[in-house]
Amino acid sequence: MLACVGSVRCHCQMKQLNSKSSFRYQIDASDCITFVDSAWKSFAERNNTPELTRRSIVGKSIWNFISGREVRHLYDLIFHVVRSRDREIVIPFRCDSPTIRRFMTLTIAPVQGGNLALVGALIREEPRPHVALLGSEVPDLETLVSICSWCKRVQLRDSSWVEVEQAIHELGLFQSDGVPGLTHGICPDCMFNIRDEIGQTRDS
Ligand SMILES: [Zn+2]
Repeated sequence: MLACVGSVRCHCQMKQLNSKSSFRYQIDASDCITFVDSAWKSFAERNNTPELTRRSIVGKSIWNFISGREVRHLYDLIFHVVRSRDREIVIPFRCDSPTIRRFMTLTIAPVQGGNLALVGALIREEPRPHVALLGSEVPDLETLVSICSWCKRVQLRDSSWVEVEQAIHELGLFQSDGVPGLTHGICPDCMFNIRDEIGQTRDS
């Protein structure tokens, strides 16, 4: 999505944000995107991604940009808590590119009238060898692996979640032709941490 979290495009959207340490956008009470800042705009223009220009994003529902049933449910919960309790929530997340581990925070703050301001801020980056799984190659959708939308760890067959490099090794990915597809979910650690942050230990 716009903050990277949960989108099938999360890796490429943030590739060129290095020169900017944060971006901001806003949604209204109906979850429609009403504002995208210049950091986002300049990124979309540089990246020549017309579907992500300000004009094409503003006015659309944010739910168009969030994929994965669990991820959508959690966002719904977060938005509800921020609005109903009128309190800001800050959640750490990873927005990796194929060659950079990017540690960020997403702040969701209440604005008058049920509007919400969302700010993604870069905390630090770590370079790494190129990871094709996070690149823009067209995936082979017959092979799917689950990636946590928040921490970018990948699920192994024993249901544990590990860094993407370890997962590629453990799962024997790329031993055949093609890049596996990614499905977006959330790992138990991130689920716990986010629910703890918003004060929800069960569905409500
Ligand atoms: Zn996670």
